[in-house]
Amino acid sequence: MKFGGTSLQDVESIRRAVDIVAKQQDRNPLVVVSAIGATTRDLLHLGDLALSDSVDAARVSLASVAQRHRDILGELNGRPPDPSAGDKISAYVDDITRLLQGISLLQEFTPRTQDAIIAHGERLSSLLFVTAARDAGLDAVSIDAGGVVITDARFRAARPDREELGRRARTTIAPLIAENRIPVVEGFIGATRDGVTTTMGFEASDYTASLLGAALNAAEIQIWTDVGGMLTTGHAGVDDVMSIRELSFDEAAEMSFFGAKVLHPNTIEPAVDKNIPLRVLHSACPERKGTTIFGSTSNTRGVVKSIAVQDEVVVVRLRSPYATPIHRALWSIGKTLDRHEVSTHLVASSGRRAVLVVAASRQLDRVLAELEQTLELSPSEHGVIVSLVGEDVGATPEIVSRATSAIEDVLILTAPYGASDTSVSFVVRQENADEVVMKLHTTFFDKDVRPGVFVRMEAKTRS
Ligand code: ADP
Ligand code: MG
Repeated sequence: MKFGGTSLQDVESIRRAVDIVAKQQDRNPLVVVSAIGATTRDLLHLGDLALSDSVDAARVSLASVAQRHRDILGELNGRPPDPSAGDKISAYVDDITRLLQGISLLQEFTPRTQDAIIAHGERLSSLLFVTAARDAGLDAVSIDAGGVVITDARFRAARPDREELGRRARTTIAPLIAENRIPVVEGFIGATRDGVTTTMGFEASDYTASLLGAALNAAEIQIWTDVGGMLTTGHAGVDDVMSIRELSFDEAAEMSFFGAKVLHPNTIEPAVDKNIPLRVLHSACPERKGTTIFGSTSNTRGVVKSIAVQDEVVVVRLRSPYATPIHRALWSIGKTLDRHEVSTHLVASSGRRAVLVVAASRQLDRVLAELEQTLELSPSEHGVIVSLVGEDVGATPEIVSRATSAIEDVLILTAPYGASDTSVSFVVRQENADEVVMKLHTTFFDKDVRPGVFVRMEAKTRS
């Protein structure tokens, strides 16, 4: 059971999360928590302050992050109060303070130090959750993720060693579950074999939950968040958004790949490996069924399930010299993108020409400069990707033509077509995104909506 930062904002929401766990106590839950609210961002900002301003300025901000947690702890730490909880917060604050001094002295804030600082967000929230759970009479026990989630040393984007993780989960966590205790594990963070703290990328608590769920052969993996499941779109400002009852692993993976941030893209793989259903549930309305993601949804093939939006992408158009076959050009383009860690969303090529849709990033200028040495580049354009997702949607010409005519007035920068059966994507300018999503949502979700596939939501359950 993973609870995101939006589900752990304050005393009330933490108690609600504990209550959700308590109701499933007989199913032997394991809990994964994210940092509360926007703590990760705040902690990252401390390092920037120590770098650009002063340690004192950073300490002022740190004090307010610590106070926010102390205030919550004060209310949760009930019967009988555990005096060591407050001491733990002080120890974390001391640890962060030393790191801030190091940043200021050395005038560098490396990814390794970033991880050392931001990992405290999950440590703090885990402390609060365990305190609240014990106060509610649950036998919760705090697990240090660094002792279980073993990763490589790619700081800020560490990759887990799944075999080692599995071994450790089975030896350290499984026995606790067997004794009916409730392990509470920090999401997002891990450690190298040498014990150096790492993180697996923003929003990776979802991934922690599915890694542990798979390692322990869970009956299901529950992602508790602030919306009523996977929605027909997460894009703001669209009316009549619905929750999707069921999705296949492929559909959910495609949605998260194309920007549906409710699930971290890596979350699907461990669940697929062990064929464990994933459920996305609303922590403020736990009685709702939410969305269940599993093997396949064969009776809804060719139905558009959702419209995903990926912001801040760049369309790069290029041409290879006459003597260079495009596949060789693509191969070297791929290597260049990889070296600079720029992720690619879409690729298409024809003859000597290719179009790439990549994530906008600081490194992109360097990538383009390198490509220009061997290839002809047209000026690149910024935009967003709007994708229709659903099994067989990409292989259903009628859907493509309905979509195209719904947005015929809008300039489409590119729409590479045919590589995926599970999606159809249009790249448009940022200023057209709202219009495109609204028109497509009206086209595919207002009329003839398949009963049983989607669930309409009252406005109050949307956030
Ligand atoms: P958490 O703190 O629980 O990890 P996130 O903010 O990471 O929460 O994810 C939930 C958010 O994902 C929703 O509030 C919504 O804005 C966004 N989102 C984007 N696309 C979708 C979608 N298709 N369905 C549901 N939520 C979506
Ligand atoms: Mg999230």
